[in-house]
Parts: sequence; structure tokens; C-alpha cells
Amino acid sequence: MFAHAAQRMGYFTAVLDPDADSPAGRVSHFHIHSDYTDVDALARLAGLADAVTTEFENVPASALEHLASARPVAPGAPAIAIAQDRIAEKAHFGRCGVACAPYAVIESAANLEAVPDALLPGILKTARLGYDGKGQQRVATRAELAAAWDASGNVACVLEKRMPLDYECSVIVARGHDGQMVNFPVQRNLHRDGILAVTEVHEENMPAALAQRAIDATKRIATGIDYVGVLCVEFFVLADETLVVNEMAPRPHNSGHYTMDACDISQFELQVRTMAGLPLNPPRQHSPAVMLNLLGDLWFSGPDAPAMEPGWANVLALPGVHLHLYGKTEARRARKMGHLNITGADIASVRSTADFAAALLGLPIPLSE
Ligand code: ATP
Ligand code: MG
Repeated sequence: MFAHAAQRMGYFTAVLDPDADSPAGRVSHFHIHSDYTDVDALARLAGLADAVTTEFENVPASALEHLASARPVAPGAPAIAIAQDRIAEKAHFGRCGVACAPYAVIESAANLEAVPDALLPGILKTARLGYDGKGQQRVATRAELAAAWDASGNVACVLEKRMPLDYECSVIVARGHDGQMVNFPVQRNLHRDGILAVTEVHEENMPAALAQRAIDATKRIATGIDYVGVLCVEFFVLADETLVVNEMAPRPHNSGHYTMDACDISQFELQVRTMAGLPLNPPRQHSPAVMLNLLGDLWFSGPDAPAMEPGWANVLALPGVHLHLYGKTEARRARKMGHLNITGADIASVRSTADFAAALLGLPIPLSE
């Protein structure tokens, strides 16, 4: 989606990705098929590209550092290094004065022993390499915690207290090399099994003052690491409207995919603009929107059934439905294959179309658990 946005503005794109079937590689002018740390491949990329970004925060920060000696890289390696590591990330949130859930760092048996009971029930998360709920284990007792840490291979983890969420939201900002920053409206998100399922964006999706607090916190988090590029920060909202920061994603984010059809400038175009040093106009949302994620589960009618692509025609017969598929060659359960953006004149009609679309596909009705 980033490559498409860049190409629409006349740029050629080059993608370095170890996956021979990389969807971004297929749609780009150049696909450098190599490991992220291959110095010859990095040199080739630097030779082709005037500016470099990453769509995947688990690219080794050292690879970005290496590229940065030749080309502008945004976001920079220091910001990526923080976002890659939940321990560093939480410390950064603390420095910015944005509260996260109570947590403990577990790197040793002594750390495990010292965990206060007040953090249970909790969620043990590996400090590195988690996404879409992977690397997370729910634990209710100290015995479960010890077993979960063993199951992780005793890697560095954080234990987070399980928070009573009223709902979740996220904020996407784009910040330029000159420090100029613009933001999208706050996204209200529903996760199922630790994976984003639904995003709703319209004027009344949450109280305005609370939305503003989330935007202000996100801007502090971006400014605090002198961030350049598109950044998403995810939050929990508790019943008393306490805002708790969850994590940040140093790239365009799944909760911002609605911007492709509901805003006059998408999160991907803003990423292109930050990289190219072009002006960052504040985005304007012109339509209320609901985004439904399409996971690989939809390709399987039963446990032993072969993968079969859903019939999209019925869904596309509904007004204001925009289908985005990512070109992944293999459907797998829990794998993000694409999304539907639903737009319309008002949120009531958008929701009812989203409900229809969900029912046709066999998805749970959007904003219910
Ligand atoms: P992604 O990168 O896809 O956002 P992730 O694997 O990094 O996911 P988190 O964002 O840490 O995972 O958590 C995924 C979801 O699990 C959250 O959006 C939330 O619904 C739930 N969750 C995570 N931590 C907590 C917590 N401390 N209390 C309650 N729910 C939580
Ligand atoms: Mg998350």
C-alpha cells in the first residue's frame, strides 16, 4: 500500500524483503530478495533509493543504521530500536509522562521471584518480536507465570497487569524532518484474540476531550524521540476514562487503513511525503468509516477444508464497500489477508452496511465482542 502511494506520486519503489513472494516486492520496480543484514543487498538498496523507510519494525536496527550512513532513513534506527523492545518502549512512555499499565521486567529468576502479586492476573509479553498477539501468554497465578516464562525460553519479557478495558483506540501522526506534525482523528479499535478486528472512525466514536488527550500524548511520544515518519500509538481506555498507553508502531498501522478511502490524504501518502521532505497537510476525513480486517480464517469453511477465497461479489454489491487484498499467496488462519473499508454519508448507514458485510462473510457483527 505504501508502494502504491509512492508510485501514484511518480516515484519508483525498491523493496528489500527476504520473502520471495513479498507482496510489496511484487508491486515494486525492484525487489532485492535478501536477508535484512546482507551488506551487499543494503548497498544495492542505498544505490537505488533516495530515501528509505521500513514497514516492519523487526528489521534489525543495525540494518537501518547501516543504510543511514548512505541515505536518509525515516524512522531512524534509534526510534525503531525503542519500538522493537517493550522494555525500552515503556521507559520512553514514562519519560514522556504517558502512563502505561503497571508492569515488571522479567529477565532473570530473581526478577520473576520479585514480581508483586498485584500484577496478577497479567499478560506475559516477550520484550521483542511480538505482533498480532504472538509472544503473549495470559497468566493468573505465580505458577502459571513461572511456566509461561519457561515456555518463552526464559527470554526477556514484561509482565503487564491485565487492565479492565472499556475499549481501545489509537492515534496516527506524521512528523517531518523539520518537526512539523499532523494527525488523523482518533481511531476506535476492537481486537479479537489479540488481533485488530474492527476500526471505527467518526466524530462521536469517543469523547472529544479524551480524544484530544490521546492525540497530545501521541505527539509527546513522537517528539520525545525526534521521530520522523508515520507513527501509531495504541491506547486502552478504562471505564473512568483513564487513558493507558499500550504500545507504538513505527510505521503506517492497520488501524489507519481506513484513511485510504475515508480521508483526503492516506497514512501511506503521508509516509511518502515525510520521506520526500514534502509538505505535510493536515488530513481531512471526509466520510465516517468502519474498517473490517479480513483474516485467513475466512478462506477455510471447516477445520480440514482446503483454502478457498471468499466470494467478494455479494459484499461488493453493498454501497461504499472498498475491498483491499494484499496479494499474499497463502491464506493462513489469523493471517491478515486484506481489509474492507466501508464509507458512507453518516455513521448509522456505514455501520449497517458493515453489519451486512460481516454477516455475508460470516464475521461477528462489527462492534460486538
Ligand atoms: P499488535 O502488534 O498486532 O498490535 P501485539 O502482539 O503487539 O499486537 P499488544 O498490542 O500488546 O499485542 O496486545 C494485543 C491486544 O491484547 C491489545 O490490543 C488488547 O486487546 C489486549 N491486551 C494487551 N495487553 C493488555 C493488558 N495489559 N490488559 C488488557 N488487555 C491487553
Ligand atoms: Mg498492539
